[in-house]
Amino acid sequence: MDRIRAFINGGFETSDGTILHKINPVTGEVIAEVEQTTPILLQKAVDASRSAQIIWASYTNQKRSQIMIKASQLLANSLEELTRLEVKDVGKVWSEAISADVPCGAEAYEFFGALAATMTGTSHRWADARGYTERVPLGICAGIGAWNYPTQIACWKSAPALAAGNAFILKPSEMTPYTANAIAEILHEAGMPAGLFQVVHGDYSVGQALCEHPQIAKISLTGGVETGKKIMAQSAATLKKVTLELGGKAPLIVFADSDFDLAVQTALDANFYTAGEVCSNATRVFVEDIIADKFMAALVEKTQKLKIGDPMSADTQIGAIISENHLEKILSYIEIGKSEGAKLLTGGIRQYPIGCEGGYFISPAIFADCRDDMQIVREEIFGPVMAVLRFDNEEEVIKRANDTEFGLGAGIITNDIGRAYRVADKLEAGNIWINSYNLIPPDWPFGGVKQSGFGRESSVFALESYSQIKATYIQY
Ligand code: NAD
Repeated sequence: MDRIRAFINGGFETSDGTILHKINPVTGEVIAEVEQTTPILLQKAVDASRSAQIIWASYTNQKRSQIMIKASQLLANSLEELTRLEVKDVGKVWSEAISADVPCGAEAYEFFGALAATMTGTSHRWADARGYTERVPLGICAGIGAWNYPTQIACWKSAPALAAGNAFILKPSEMTPYTANAIAEILHEAGMPAGLFQVVHGDYSVGQALCEHPQIAKISLTGGVETGKKIMAQSAATLKKVTLELGGKAPLIVFADSDFDLAVQTALDANFYTAGEVCSNATRVFVEDIIADKFMAALVEKTQKLKIGDPMSADTQIGAIISENHLEKILSYIEIGKSEGAKLLTGGIRQYPIGCEGGYFISPAIFADCRDDMQIVREEIFGPVMAVLRFDNEEEVIKRANDTEFGLGAGIITNDIGRAYRVADKLEAGNIWINSYNLIPPDWPFGGVKQSGFGRESSVFALESYSQIKATYIQY
């Protein structure tokens, strides 16, 4: 049994708070005891952050950049170890974690490390005065994570924060505590001052304490919409800056003129990657009526070939669902879909793969005959459940695609370039992919509109969100 402790001021700290149990989603077994960080320990972390941030902000941009690039190299060198922990945390398949989900952490540190060296301000001149502006750090920033991408969430939030000269405290999801501690050790080894990147553990109450803490300047959450609303409310009394990366119910629009194989594969990837536990997944697949039957037949054929099972096996394509509760929630949506009159073409059944019988597995599901008003079409399920909807024309599908409270991602598959631009212009989403889906290189902004949240991860826009403008006016 592992014991998971907070990482504070450059080392692990024992807490005498509540013990939470970390369950391995692949086996259903308790594999770790997580020590919930107490308020006293949290204050110790904040105090250490303060001292570390003053040291860190006093470094030149170049020095911060060098340490972050070193961190990126160490993260890349630890790819296998971090992947092992990511799989242990989430139950996702090894092949996805090692090729994309974990390397993006090192990529974020490389990108923001390079960007740190480029931070400059503006200069102004009047008849009898001069002025200059600078981007200065906010101070102590905190991240609160969801459980689906623990390495990515830790690095996407902390790298821009540190590049801008802040200290960072991370509270990973209580369901995925492993990777954060490993990342903390790596960043410390790279030469960051003790206390600059720290990890506290626990449930919502630790997150709430971060939101309410008067010395913390910003909170960045990845989580559900209801949590986002609570975070804003909890952060209001101290007027914190807030970035919210929330849920989604994205549309993927497949036009009859598209490359058929690309369209089928994109719909599969945009639904069943990480067993469907992806916020930006395109779970409403709109298909032009004249190709819909052929499209669904191809989808079903490919979906039934996906191998479900032990995430550590090289040929597994669908891993475990994070928890028994979440699996039950997904299964209940399968029943809701059937009772609403949608036709379950394949999947939606709990699985007990050999060697992982105690784990939480489900076969990927595709519903046809869906209507826009169905619960399975309107609500985020956050599992491998695709709803296929037919459409007749462009104007109609744009209206239907936008008819949602969410606005994280949207996809368009077409070979008509004019149509691609026209439709993209009208879709209400923070991220739009044409003839691809869910690609987010480090220099590319990611985030939502409407109830999917606000603020952006990655890119220069994330760096800006972790800094504030200071304007100095000099009278001659
Ligand atoms: P969640 O909202 O239940 O929990 C997220 C985090 O918030 C956890 O660390 C949790 O402990 C903490 N938390 C919960 N209540 C809190 C409170 N009142 N105050 C402070 N902290 C609190 O989400 P989850 O189940 O971990 O993840 C799934 C959700 O996350 C889905 O809705 C999904 O769409 C969303 N998500 C969004 C993105 C994105 O980038 N937009 C990425 C991944 C997941």
